[in-house]
Amino acid sequence: SVQQDVSATELKDDKGFKGHSMLAPFTAGWQTTDLHPLVIEKSEGCYLYDTNGKKYLDSLAGLWCTALGGNEHRLVDAATTQLKTLPFYHSFWNRTTKPSLDLAKELLEIFTASKMAKVFFTNSGSEANDTQVKLVWYYNNALGRPNKKKFIARSKAYHGSTLIAASLSGLTPLHQKFDLPAPFVLHTDCPHYWRYHLPGETEEEFSTRLANNLENLILKEGPETIAAFIAEPVMGAGGVIPPPATYFEKIQAVVKKYDILFIADEVICAFGRLGTMFGCDKYNIKPDLVSLAKALSSAYMPIGAVLVSPKVSDVIHSQSNELGNFSHGFTYSGHPVACAVALETVKIYKERNIIEQVKSLSPKFQDGIKAFSNSPIIGEIRGTGLISGTEFTDNKSPNESFPPEWGIGAYFGAECEKHGMLVRVSGDNIMMCPPFIITPDQLDELISIYGKALKATE
Ligand code: PLP
Repeated sequence: SVQQDVSATELKDDKGFKGHSMLAPFTAGWQTTDLHPLVIEKSEGCYLYDTNGKKYLDSLAGLWCTALGGNEHRLVDAATTQLKTLPFYHSFWNRTTKPSLDLAKELLEIFTASKMAKVFFTNSGSEANDTQVKLVWYYNNALGRPNKKKFIARSKAYHGSTLIAASLSGLTPLHQKFDLPAPFVLHTDCPHYWRYHLPGETEEEFSTRLANNLENLILKEGPETIAAFIAEPVMGAGGVIPPPATYFEKIQAVVKKYDILFIADEVICAFGRLGTMFGCDKYNIKPDLVSLAKALSSAYMPIGAVLVSPKVSDVIHSQSNELGNFSHGFTYSGHPVACAVALETVKIYKERNIIEQVKSLSPKFQDGIKAFSNSPIIGEIRGTGLISGTEFTDNKSPNESFPPEWGIGAYFGAECEKHGMLVRVSGDNIMMCPPFIITPDQLDELISIYGKALKATE
């Protein structure tokens, strides 16, 4: 029970702790009054240091984003140079800045899974996904299809936490108590083979069933009402769920059949995380629209982007006399400092051949973690590239979750923390996605701490 004075605005020491003054994201109110927050003060490569000087291996790259780790001086220099030259100018009304133009050009060059024609800049992944919805509505209005407005997303997806992005997400806590999802959003199956396949069903058969379910949903709602389908190539916050064999091939065929736009939410997967420049490259996805953020700037500055195919942008351009301004945007859309940092980030990825680096580290990481699969408390370990998810269940069964009050995941997370590593815990799911710059020795350390924490949890 919370007895503390919640109006306290300062951190106090153990004896006098009265809570802090933040309404903290994805944090329970009682936590900010009863528990000391972990205050991170400094970073060095793949390590973080708290205010007591304790060192942690950052197995989640911040929040799936600091791909180049904590002290990439080239990014600091890029920011400083731009801050000294032009700290800010906007991109409204056909005015803009050079870093924004250069970054847009660069992103169009490196995204090759399908042809993209334009880039719209945002400050985050959530804003990118909100922009997607407005863009798709605008496009269908321009085409004279005012009823083609519904979105299909997937159960367990995470697309952000603004009103629309949270609606697209398929995680109950993002909806409950917020009166979401918005009515124009429908959710279809989560493609998690281990958890949802029927007895005897192969991965391919499972994918066929899910594609059929999607088609049935579209037919039930009326294809003329469905505007777009959105998916992460590998689901991230939902528990790190790579797609089953043939899934995207079959889903794309259905979406295409009914003239429904495909939006790839690449916020976690882009820039090498899966061992390919984009998740779309890995799974042969040919999207009409793409959302980017996170590793775009290695999180040194907040920035997101939407890539727009000619199919969509041509309609908007050709009808611009009638449509007038595309009246959507943020003060900081294309912020020159964020764009300069992102441009340098992409340059580093290319110069250091980050894709080959991830590919060469991936077997050590994946095999090292998967070696714990026979633990009696692990149901499934999954992952690809430099992203990994562990799900704790009893008897290896997806249907035998541990009672939530046992707090298995939280216990494992606390053990990792004790041994000097930060992981992402969501219920009984553990997620890791280390910086791309992690060394083989640091991967050994990560695997060793994971093993110690597992042993203690068993
Ligand atoms: N999309 C995906 C796939 C994400 O994982 C996230 C964040 O984790 C977002 C969108 C939201 O991005 P942001 O937190 O920058 O708004």
